[in-house]
Amino acid sequence: MAERTHTDPEKMEKIVSLCKGKGFIFQSGELYGGLNGCWDYGPLGAELKRNLKEYWWRKNVQERDDIVGMDGSILTHQAVLTASGHVGGFSDPMCDCKVCKKRYRADQLEEVPLCEAKKQLPKGEDKRCELTEPKEFNLMFETKMGASADDDDPNAVAYLRPETAQTIFVQYKNVLDSSRLKIPFGIAQIGKAFRNEINPRNFTFRSREFEQMEIEYFCHPDDGMKLTDEWLEKRLNFYEEIGVPREKLHILDVPDGERAHYSKKTYDIEYEFPFGIQELEGVAYRTDYDLGKHQECSGKSLEYFNPETKERFIPHVVEPSAGCDRTVLAVICEAYDEEDLTKEGGKPDIRKVMRLKPCIAPIKAAVLPLLKNKPELVAKAKEVKALLQPHMNIFYDETAAIGRRYRRQDEVGTPFCIAIDFETLGEEGPNGEDLSDTVTVRHRDSMEQERIAISELLPWLLARMV
Ligand code: ATP
Repeated sequence: MAERTHTDPEKMEKIVSLCKGKGFIFQSGELYGGLNGCWDYGPLGAELKRNLKEYWWRKNVQERDDIVGMDGSILTHQAVLTASGHVGGFSDPMCDCKVCKKRYRADQLEEVPLCEAKKQLPKGEDKRCELTEPKEFNLMFETKMGASADDDDPNAVAYLRPETAQTIFVQYKNVLDSSRLKIPFGIAQIGKAFRNEINPRNFTFRSREFEQMEIEYFCHPDDGMKLTDEWLEKRLNFYEEIGVPREKLHILDVPDGERAHYSKKTYDIEYEFPFGIQELEGVAYRTDYDLGKHQECSGKSLEYFNPETKERFIPHVVEPSAGCDRTVLAVICEAYDEEDLTKEGGKPDIRKVMRLKPCIAPIKAAVLPLLKNKPELVAKAKEVKALLQPHMNIFYDETAAIGRRYRRQDEVGTPFCIAIDFETLGEEGPNGEDLSDTVTVRHRDSMEQERIAISELLPWLLARMV
């Protein structure tokens, strides 16, 4: 499907630059010119991504009785991916420009692109690429196992998994037998997947190494369609909870002929990224295709037996499959804001703020002593930090003026700043009140401030982190 337009490249540039400057996301191997399609998460990005994964796991595994987790190996047996159809068929159509040698995904080209080589020519009317006929390019990364692996030994071939799903299907029976679950039930997994994308682009959106958050939900054949609709609704709610509002999401009911051949129904959940409306997650009804294939190719029964009805069948599967990196990117794009705080006649003042939901924000609160050269303030601030640190990610900062420190936290999405001032130490408040052992909590979004007793601070914060 061609990537649709409706873009804001300037906003995207600012986001990429903020991600690098603040330590969210760096290009992999940047020191050596960069490894195309691979990204490293820096200190804040790693926290954000972890928080997202933990939130997904909590909501989809720990808070449900019918879903269990697993963590499968990345290196995958050749037979698994032959059975699933990936070895023979997991490919995208690729074409090359005969002149500038650039490589394209044929199905994503809306028009013949401008040719890089011809751009340099002083004359020439047709400056477009000269494209070869599309040919299929397998997206899997192949490797060889074992020190003595003979180059010609076909049994030494293994693959980096192109999706987490297949490791779930091939362990379905072991999970079922060891967990006493009854259908309907699900197996969830978060983990790396690898695809040798022809044309990685749009920051982390299309990478060659990425993480998926997938659920394979096994059910009776009669329930597949209904459950697909139910999962769509649940997944839309999830995005709302992590700060991606419903009105920015689009549901594409993938038409016949465009779905994977095994799927009876697929919804793509798409988000309005600054580079266009693009897929975040697929909710696919995969029928009994995968388990059926693995039963056929392994020669081992993957049937489910219902002791109550005495029915025996291969379970059908509904799969909500989300991209972790794409979700992180969507959350960042949605949270990024610039607020004009310029006062009349004053010099321009643009506040950059990431309005991240507290549940996924990398830093939950910053502890800031008003001045760093007052040992009593610093000691009290460190006490507050020690009180909170075992429960959440806290940042301590004593450098620069307090206003600047607030702004730095706004830029990285810290929902609360806690200032320790002279009133905390016992000085009278502006109206003569006793404010000792209270702190000023400043809210990131409204910039409002309120006074909270140190003894109440931890429960106050915890209640706002869900
Ligand atoms: P696309 O059409 O964008 O290539 P897809 O339909 O092939 O994606 P699926 O196979 O359904 O993707 O994978 C499920 C999810 O995994 C996608 O919705 C996406 O969030 C994520 N994903 C797939 N490919 C990539 C990639 N190259 N980089 C980052 N995330 C990806």
